[in-house]
Amino acid sequence: MSGSIDTYVTSVRSEFEETLRRWVEIPTISASPEHRTAIRTCAGAVVDHVRGIGGEAAVIETPGNPVVLAEFRAGPDRPTVSVYNHLDVQPADEPEWRSDPFAMGIRDGVYTGRGTTDDKGPALTALMAARYAAEQRVPVNVRFIWELEEEIGSPHFESFVRANIDALRSDSVVVSDTVWISRSRPAMPCGLRGMLTARILLETGTKDVHSGLTGGAARNPVAELCALAAACCDSKTGEVRIPGFYDDVEPVSAEERDALLKSGFDAEVFRQAHGLRLLRSGDSAELAERIWTRPTFEVHGIVGGYTGPGVKSAIAPRAEAKISMRLVPAQSPARQFESLRRFVGELNPDAAVELDGMLPPYLGPREGPYADAARDAMQHAFGRAPVWVREGGSIGAVLTMNDYLAAPIVFLGLSLPEHGYHAPNEHFDWGQASSGMKMFVRYFENVSRI
Ligand SMILES: [Zn+2]
Repeated sequence: MSGSIDTYVTSVRSEFEETLRRWVEIPTISASPEHRTAIRTCAGAVVDHVRGIGGEAAVIETPGNPVVLAEFRAGPDRPTVSVYNHLDVQPADEPEWRSDPFAMGIRDGVYTGRGTTDDKGPALTALMAARYAAEQRVPVNVRFIWELEEEIGSPHFESFVRANIDALRSDSVVVSDTVWISRSRPAMPCGLRGMLTARILLETGTKDVHSGLTGGAARNPVAELCALAAACCDSKTGEVRIPGFYDDVEPVSAEERDALLKSGFDAEVFRQAHGLRLLRSGDSAELAERIWTRPTFEVHGIVGGYTGPGVKSAIAPRAEAKISMRLVPAQSPARQFESLRRFVGELNPDAAVELDGMLPPYLGPREGPYADAARDAMQHAFGRAPVWVREGGSIGAVLTMNDYLAAPIVFLGLSLPEHGYHAPNEHFDWGQASSGMKMFVRYFENVSRI
């Protein structure tokens, strides 16, 4: 069959490029209310496209943006793979864009534009693989769950899954929305960090006051929040000082540490890819461990007081710190929030802590028939066995599908670090798309035999 998949992939290249262009040129920015129409347009265009190539598809409403469900059916007695992607994108207002982010550029198999790699390119790659599998009568049902709210934290995905649980019954769930560590080595994440976001608020007055008339007597909420943040986390090492913070952190096994080392993670490549001038360590292994397996505490902003040019010598009446924690298995966001509230309350009883959002961490199976099938598919398509890594980020939909669909989840991502996830000049490439189609076809074939 490998001869015919090669022929297929070669023959669909211009179709892939034209379809991706149409999808990318619909600005599905979920964060901005002005783009609601674009979200709808995209859902409709994608449904039409799937129907046009022989699949079934429908737009499923939620209280927020809809979800597109598509399927190539082989029969009710066949196993079903559900492939998850998202078709909404990040905003693209960075000044560094060299071309219009919503007019896809094509040059030597490189596709530039917002959403090319995150996540429309991988979604279309999987779709074209599913069509081929259907044409070849591979005995497997392939379903697509395409969300349009992933970039804003999937606020309605759980209610969507609950409401459609029968239609979503799956033997295997594939998530294709992750990034390799380097082009030379496929990577398969088995874990995601969780997240907790919160605000610390402090009000010490009713209006700005003059620091000459009141300074020394008035309390300063901006400085007090700085002190609280410093008490929570050692800004030099990143070590979190909230009592009990590390109690539930599970040690990383020797096997997993070895896999992290082999992932091809390189401190210098990482530094340049993210435009970072300074890092907490120059050691690749230590950095990989920090990003994937250690929890964090970050201060994202302290709002309060005067931020215009020069200095205005007023003492602000209130301030707010915006903070987050990335959590690792088996830390509980609810428990961490309680610890934070208690700790802040002890240090500064006048400060209030308000919860903004929570997402638990995830650790998936690295063994079993579906993990083996995924590993084989990557090895077959890319010529190298994938390494197990973890993702430092969080994908809310994964937790939901893990809770409700009761099917093992594997991650078959195709994005590369240089593709610029959430960054200006985001791109995807034909190398990843063409081998990606082979990878998905092989995975569907493997699952049909389990
Ligand atoms: Zn994504």
